[in-house]
Formats: sequence, structure tokens, C-alpha cells
Amino acid sequence: MIDKIVVMIGPPGAGKGTQARQLAEHYHIPQISTGDILREMARLETKLGLELKTIMASGELVSDEVLASVIQTRTTQPDCIGGYILDGYPRTPSQARTLEKLARGQGKDVRLVSVEISRDALMRRLTGRRTCSKCGEIYNIYFRPTRQEGQCDLCSGELTHRADDKEETVGTRLTAYEQKTAPLIQYFREIGRLVGVNGERPVAEVFTEICAALEN
Ligand code: AMP
Repeated sequence: MIDKIVVMIGPPGAGKGTQARQLAEHYHIPQISTGDILREMARLETKLGLELKTIMASGELVSDEVLASVIQTRTTQPDCIGGYILDGYPRTPSQARTLEKLARGQGKDVRLVSVEISRDALMRRLTGRRTCSKCGEIYNIYFRPTRQEGQCDLCSGELTHRADDKEETVGTRLTAYEQKTAPLIQYFREIGRLVGVNGERPVAEVFTEICAALEN
């Protein structure tokens, strides 16, 4: 455990999710992916669920109000007491302020890990990404194919291609990131809590660098 709130920040496809999962395992703290939580909520046929589905399929951001409630509910669960990893939150200045307040209330430091990567590499990563529908393992048809096409190596679950990883939506998601989320990096850099890592290197190397930065 590291008793911190670790925020993974970076464009969609930078490898935040992969790193967040490994960090969670290594430090025995939960990985909280707002995208996963929202996708789960969107599967329910409620009014909110249907609204979320439409917004997410378009690649736009879900409202700060919905996110505030999601993050408040999830981070006050008992498994978050020793710290947690946020993957995909905060994404706007308002969400960053909500997080600051939350962190103060929980008595925890926030550390930001910014995973940096070029736009070209992102397009290949996103359009090639496939996720196991059962265990959530992430593959890529170009860089990390499964042994059996369409089937997870770990649990034999069926692989899915996220609706918002299709080429047309990826552009909108990257624009949302550049306009709304990237400015947060500057903000956290100014207050001195940012660790920048080059996300184009092998997963294990990136992981080692992040751990070293978090532990000092
Ligand atoms: P992700 O899996 O993190 O790429 O998130 C998938 C989609 O969920 C995003 O394109 C947004 O529509 C929505 N989403 C996830 N996290 C947030 C957030 N912090 N703020 C607003 N929308 C979010």
C-alpha cells in the first residue's frame, strides 16, 4: 500500500489502464476506472444508463455532476482506505477541484502520473485494442495479439472492440482530451505533484519508472 491517490493521466490509448491495473496489483490497492464504472452503468436500461450510452458512444465527456457522484461513492468504499489509483479521472478542471476536496477530506496526497505518447501511436493502439469481456484483460491486434483470434489467453472470454475505439470516435475522444484534460497537466506541474513518463516504451519499463517515482 502507498496510502496515496495516484491519478493516471494521458490521452485515451496511452496505456494508462494497463499501468493502473499493474500498479493496483503491486500495491494492493484498487484501480478505479471511471470509464469501466460508466460502461457498467450504461448497460442498465435506466434513463441515466441510456443517456450515458449515447454520450460515451459519441466520444464526448459525461457531465461533471455525474462523475462527482460516481467518484464520491466509489472512493468511500472500505477498500480505498490504503489509497487507490484513478484511471480516467479527473478529466476537467471542475473534476480536479472535486478531487482536491475529496483528497483533503480523506487525508491523502494526490500524485499525478502523466503517460505521454504521440498521436500516431495512439491511433494504432486505440483502433487495434481489444478487451476481454470477462476479465478485462487488454490486447492489441497489432502489438499484442491473442493466441486464438477473438479469445482471451487468460480466461478464454470473448474479446470485444469498444464502440468508442472505432476510428471515427477516436478523433472526438482525442480532441476532448486535448481541450479539456491536457490543461490539467500544467496545473499539476505547477503545484509540483506530476511525474511524466514516456508511454511509448515497453510496458514493464514504464511500470518500473512509475513505481520508482511514486516511492520517493
Ligand atoms: P475511458 O474508458 O476512460 O476512455 O472512458 C470512456 C468514456 O467514458 C469517455 O470517452 C467519456 O465519455 C466517459 N468518461 C470516463 N471518465 C470520464 C470522466 N472523468 N469525465 C467525463 N467522462 C468520462
